[in-house]
Amino acid sequence: MNKQTEIIEMRVDGMDCNNCAMSIQRFLERKGLEDVLVNFQTREVRFRQNDEALDLAGVSAGITRLGFTVVTENGGDDATAHPHQHEKTTWRRLVICALLTAPLLIAHLLMTFGVPIGLLHNGWVQLALAGPVYAIGGLYFGRSALAGLRTRMLNMDVLIFVGATAAFVYSLVGLYRQNPDYYFFETAATIITLVLIGNWLEARAVERTTTAIGALSELREETARRVTASGAVVTLPVEQIKVGDHLRVNTGDKIPLDGKILTGTVTVNEAMLTGESLPQQRGEGDALLGGTILTSGQTTIAVTAGYKDGTLAKIIDLVKTAQADKPGIQRLADRVSAVFVPVVIVIAALTFVVGWGTGYATATQALMNAIAVLLISCPCAMGLATPTAVMVGVGRLARLGVLIRGGSTIERFAGIERMVFDKTGTLTTGTLEVTDFIVTPEADPVKVRGIVREMEQYSSHPIAESILAFLKTESPHPAIAPLRVSETPGLGLEATDAAGNRYYLGAARNLPPGVEVPENTDVVLLKNNRYLASLSLSSELRKGARPLVQSLLNEGIETILLTGDRRAKADSVAEKLGISRVFAEQLPAQKLERIAALSAEKPTAMVGDGINDAAALSRADLGIALGGGSAAALDAAQVVLLRDDLSLLSEARRVAALTLRTIRESLFWAFSYNIVAIPLAALGFLNPMWAALFMAFSDVVVIGNAIRLRERKMMA
Ligand code: ADP
Ligand code: MG
Repeated sequence: MNKQTEIIEMRVDGMDCNNCAMSIQRFLERKGLEDVLVNFQTREVRFRQNDEALDLAGVSAGITRLGFTVVTENGGDDATAHPHQHEKTTWRRLVICALLTAPLLIAHLLMTFGVPIGLLHNGWVQLALAGPVYAIGGLYFGRSALAGLRTRMLNMDVLIFVGATAAFVYSLVGLYRQNPDYYFFETAATIITLVLIGNWLEARAVERTTTAIGALSELREETARRVTASGAVVTLPVEQIKVGDHLRVNTGDKIPLDGKILTGTVTVNEAMLTGESLPQQRGEGDALLGGTILTSGQTTIAVTAGYKDGTLAKIIDLVKTAQADKPGIQRLADRVSAVFVPVVIVIAALTFVVGWGTGYATATQALMNAIAVLLISCPCAMGLATPTAVMVGVGRLARLGVLIRGGSTIERFAGIERMVFDKTGTLTTGTLEVTDFIVTPEADPVKVRGIVREMEQYSSHPIAESILAFLKTESPHPAIAPLRVSETPGLGLEATDAAGNRYYLGAARNLPPGVEVPENTDVVLLKNNRYLASLSLSSELRKGARPLVQSLLNEGIETILLTGDRRAKADSVAEKLGISRVFAEQLPAQKLERIAALSAEKPTAMVGDGINDAAALSRADLGIALGGGSAAALDAAQVVLLRDDLSLLSEARRVAALTLRTIRESLFWAFSYNIVAIPLAALGFLNPMWAALFMAFSDVVVIGNAIRLRERKMMA
């Protein structure tokens, strides 16, 4: 791998909140590192090393200075272990605090109804109950607040910490003066407990969505049975298996790595990766995915991708990055809440000073109002809005067999106004039927077929595979003198033999003067610029192509066909599907130019089968790749359709739009609730405990809104 883009992984202990993660993130980004991903759930820190001189020790030291422990550098795969741990700790913390807070709160409530419980009004008893709660909560929020302050980022835990501390210290002063009017121990304890409830709900919601990664990681097979050159079978750890090795897979086995079937016909269950629940039949030459299960038959496969770059590894990677990647709307919310916290602190200070100074309230009352302001305006609901919705959205899309690279992709997907399609392998299936194979009378048909077969072996274009499949059904071919073959994507193949003859096998376009080909030729074979043979291929529309185009049209989304194929063929496919704009006979470079021009006009998605469309896919506003197998596709595109049904894309677009809407609703809720609640709190209409309760409630609303997205019905 290129040194410049090496990804470093670390495991960092001691971050137990989103804010801790944010502070590490800030720190690394300030160091100029790219693609920084910090996940406090999985205790994972990853970034891309963009500079060879990066001083890793310095990075570790910096993280340690922020108050965290770097466990292993290059922590690798077990970094995703124990996502449940966090939820458990959060739960334990909450239970302890709740048990201690309950008597305080009950006594306080009974008191308001005029039923005093003597013992519990003793200041020392109250301190004994509230003290541990403050210690636990203070440690928890204080640490996060400190981490935020160190990176000069005031986070919401600063507000909670200041609020709880103000109530607690005020009570201590009261205790010192033996004045029960100053006791607000129950307020301090309740604030902390309520916020902990919010945190626990958050941890649970987050945990429910990160299990996806855990489940995927569990699909990994540890060992593989390698067939040695002598035919013996040895069991080895998958890390030691190389591309090209032969592996034995029997009925019931998990297929260890991506590979191609060498022998046998088998059925596989790929539901875990592609969402396709029906068993799939696979024969010689077909691709198998690592992590899927061989349900019947047995086979030997040739490994096509090592264990770090197989399909499963890429998918896990996609899911991991999906969670860290924020849509623009959230980045806006982050910026707002960065301003918001200091503003709230100022409002709280003014509430106290002005309230007390003008005689609007007593000192105690003014202080309580100020604390209420701090608590009610915690922007945590704003912080939760996006990650929760994105995680649920990504999960729902995954159930459709659609993988998506992060929150910003969801936003872009939702905003698409035009979808451009590649033809061969995208709108049509990759399996084409050879309908005509015409050889000029002067040539030897057996030899011509041999040359075609020899050349197509060097290409992985759907046409090549289809031609090879067609020729295989014929009688054995004589051996052909070795050829040197090169491929021009979008055009075809060129070859030279030992005698210096030049062959061209590809599109019937820009043919040399004098060469005449039959009307419906798709692929022509030339020898030294003279016509030798021509092939016609017929293709079938891919499943779901028509419904997809139709539903896009209904939703007002423009569709365009962009293909390297002949005009007539392109037009006929476009007409069958109802696509009105067609660009035919486009070379990959021209496809790229078209996409650039189209993207400049309005938000444009490009759908392609990934290998020869890679450049266009990455240039479009949104690249959608098909055909779960190819790693190139997974790399170039931001969206990958794993299942063989195009119509899922229109549903996926609607899910993306719905996710974005959920985020907007939650952010709107979080902002407007603050705008209403802050003045109420400042004027003394909310006591701090109610404020904390409302704040926790506001989190629940946001989380609930995200969870609702799981099943939320889509508008037609
Ligand atoms: P599309 O844009 O529809 O996916 P391509 O750009 O991949 O099509 O290919 C355009 C044309 O180039 C094909 O229709 C075919 O005539 C020719 N071609 C490309 N690759 C090959 C190949 N391996 N063998 C023969 N012809 C090829
Ligand atoms: Mg194609």
